[in-house]
Amino acid sequence: MDRQERERRTEAARKACERLAAADVTAVALTWVDTSGVTRVKAVPLPRLAHAAAWGVGASPVFDAFLLDDSIVSGRFAGGPVGDLRLYPDLDRLAVLTALPGWAWAPADRYDQDGEPHPLDARHLARREVGRLAAEGFSVRASFEVEWAASVGGGDEFVPACAGPAYGMTRLTERSGYLLDVVRALTAAGVPVEQIHPEYAAGQYEISVAADDPVGAADTAVLVRETIRAVSLHHGLRATFAPKVLADGVGNGGHVHLSLWRDGANLMAGGDGPYGLTAFGEAFAAGILARLPALLAVGAPSVASYLRLIPSHWAGAFACWGLENREAAMRFVTGSAGERSVAANLEIKCFDAAANPYLVLAAVLAAGRAGLADGGTLPEPVSVDPVTLGGSVTPLPSSLGVALAAFEADGVLKEALGEPVVDTVAAVRRGEIALFEGAPPEEIAARTRWKY
Ligand code: GLU
Ligand code: MG
Repeated sequence: MDRQERERRTEAARKACERLAAADVTAVALTWVDTSGVTRVKAVPLPRLAHAAAWGVGASPVFDAFLLDDSIVSGRFAGGPVGDLRLYPDLDRLAVLTALPGWAWAPADRYDQDGEPHPLDARHLARREVGRLAAEGFSVRASFEVEWAASVGGGDEFVPACAGPAYGMTRLTERSGYLLDVVRALTAAGVPVEQIHPEYAAGQYEISVAADDPVGAADTAVLVRETIRAVSLHHGLRATFAPKVLADGVGNGGHVHLSLWRDGANLMAGGDGPYGLTAFGEAFAAGILARLPALLAVGAPSVASYLRLIPSHWAGAFACWGLENREAAMRFVTGSAGERSVAANLEIKCFDAAANPYLVLAAVLAAGRAGLADGGTLPEPVSVDPVTLGGSVTPLPSSLGVALAAFEADGVLKEALGEPVVDTVAAVRRGEIALFEGAPPEEIAARTRWKY
């Protein structure tokens, strides 16, 4: 970060402050997401924003080693009390949080005090992967689908906020004002909402937003979740994005939609491959599909994730792909005839919202890039619920420990993410496995429920 860049940031912050002051903003929340998928924050009053933009705000590097219960593991690259990082707000992504009157938000990039990106900064890793694909002529559009469950009151017990049937209009009617406030707050924050609806599980709703570049999509995932949380509180509700809210039933997914582009064309459509995939689109998909067991250590990172990732719950518990198959870990979506060139995309279903969205995209893009590099092809698609095929389709890992072993053995991910990341992810996952050792599913769900 040179002097010119700091000056540019100071100037940008001054301009932003005028806009924020006019919107009655008093302070700005600067967030980053830790290895456990918890969004952490520091905040600055408006008059301090310009300094924060140019010089950053201090934050300990220890958060990379936090577990979901705020205990700390000591990894080789993170975990001690010593050291300091600087959080630099990305002012291009600044948003006014109408659900938190007086507040604005910006995602932060973490640098060291010498102005070098922190090797464990997940937002930087995602941006780096975007850059690596761009160097090969590719870009990616992505979005996270957000599912959440709303509970009545502030208690730790889960009390569903609606009683109507799954996907039922009754559930919309019961909470119509709440859902409208979610849409309004997101629209005011500049998030293009595409759809909102009641989901299957008790008290569960879902929102979809427009695709964006990968870093923007991860930022949006954070903004959407924190906005829903705030709106919920205003309505006397508590929102949870945890993978499994109750031990039984259906969980909250954090599905990722992805399309690969080159020269303005969507490579997921218009090709000679299966269902119109181009050779590039297929290779990208194949690289991801082949690495799903390893990617789960990033995309389904919690012990509770494996209470969700089970067959016949639409969570995508099998290592296969299929056209519009909601039990396949990779669902291929073509969209309707006539809009396929825009709409076709891959949906990775096996991930959940305990995942750090930046780390998920960094890892998935690296896997896709590896597929492109070796010109991978997809196996036969699966067009039924894979559980009915009597073992001919491989299930994904059924525990965090198994996913972690695959992750640690994956050379492509290690190379792309770097040793500090792999080592710290492993230390945090092992810490959480130990934390829940011997705990029954009800306890795992209850102790995870209000962390996300
Ligand atoms: N709630 C399901 C999950 O755990 C997903 C339902 C859907 O297909 O949207 O991922
Ligand atoms: Mg859903």
